[in-house]
Amino acid sequence: MARKLLLEHAQVPGINTYEVYRKHGGYRSVEKALKSMSPDDVVEEVKKSGLRGRGGAGFPTGMKWSFLAKPEGVPRYLVCNADESEPGTFKDRYLMEKIPHLLVEGMITSSYALGANTSYIYIRGEYSWILFILEKAIAEAYANGWLGKNIQGSGYDLDLYVNIGGGAYICGEETALIESLEGKRGNPRIKPPFPAVKGLWQCPTVVNNVETIAAVVPIVNDGGEEYAKIGIGKSTGTKLISASGNINKPGVYEIEMNISVEEFIYSDEWCGGIKNGKKLKACVPGGSSVPILPHFLICKTANGDTRMMTYESLADGGFATGSMLGSGGFIVYDEDQCIVRNTWNFSRFYAHESCGQCSPCREGTGWMEKVLHRLENGGGKMSDIDLLVDVAKKIEGNTICPLGDAAAWPVSAAIRHFREEFEWHVNEPRAAMERNYGLVAEKTFAPAS
Ligand code: SF4
Repeated sequence: MARKLLLEHAQVPGINTYEVYRKHGGYRSVEKALKSMSPDDVVEEVKKSGLRGRGGAGFPTGMKWSFLAKPEGVPRYLVCNADESEPGTFKDRYLMEKIPHLLVEGMITSSYALGANTSYIYIRGEYSWILFILEKAIAEAYANGWLGKNIQGSGYDLDLYVNIGGGAYICGEETALIESLEGKRGNPRIKPPFPAVKGLWQCPTVVNNVETIAAVVPIVNDGGEEYAKIGIGKSTGTKLISASGNINKPGVYEIEMNISVEEFIYSDEWCGGIKNGKKLKACVPGGSSVPILPHFLICKTANGDTRMMTYESLADGGFATGSMLGSGGFIVYDEDQCIVRNTWNFSRFYAHESCGQCSPCREGTGWMEKVLHRLENGGGKMSDIDLLVDVAKKIEGNTICPLGDAAAWPVSAAIRHFREEFEWHVNEPRAAMERNYGLVAEKTFAPAS
């Protein structure tokens, strides 16, 4: 059985309450940090751990923390990004629902490290029921002296608030999140300045994902070096994966970053194989924003190396033959699934969620959605396929925030790997529609493994 650092006690009855959480070692990291470590010591442990941001970008957390400006007399803020809304990603929701005190504990330890006396959890609006779970945990933490003035007699003060999100995917982009937290429309800001210099209320701010902040707890408890012993290379520690699609055991899993993708898909400990004995056709390993992988690049890289569940291995080959670990939203497609339909579905999402500030994203996502819609519904032309590639290319790298790239990559990757299926939709539109509406037997394109 794999080691679990975050979800070890997730199934313990009552772990969402303070008493049970404390009985299972809860708040030890705060005790240790406040009693025997300086804030810089905590930052040092996080650096040693090699922890990388678990929201999608994978930027080293210790380095991000060390960028935080510390001007005299100016408050600093820690903001937890709990605005999880990437299609296929639901791991933060699970963690917050099951073990809310783990996030609260991580917020206290991390806020201490950063010198923040006021911190926020910005939670997705659609997760409204978790708001109450978190607020209860925060109230319990206040009542037991872990929040408020002079925490556990240490002289350190911290107030922690939960803020319900504005209902837009783009509010998960850190500068849009800050705008929204300030009460404005959640439009991404032009960077620089980065939030570490001018963030919330124009003050130095760190924005970290839920899982990232929770991981600070075992790092402080056991030491950064112990954490770094798990995993391979620069992919250290454990990672929460939201597994969905045509697998036998969808769910949220905590993996050590040293297992192969094949093991993750087929082992009974994880996804348990493809549902109904079907063949594997494709996989999106890191949420809807990352390039799709065809079956022959899932378990092996283009060089023939075993594909591992790590940042580096999933990206091996660049976008030509690789993908990204992203947010860990692992979506598996069996041989029956239509890639055109799936790409249109993702495109529809991004066109809807574009904030509209920059033309390539505002116009391009809309165009891609329209063209994919007509391809999927039998009105496509052969030139539409290259038109999609061209529009995606013009969006990529030309926008204020990463949503533009996130919208472009799934389209270009789907065409790169499944062009034949797009062409079939043009050449045999009726057959394609009948297939997608389940009226006829399946047509398989890429020879599924
Ligand atoms: Fe808005 Fe899209 Fe530009 Fe991001 S890339 S700022 S979502 S228009």
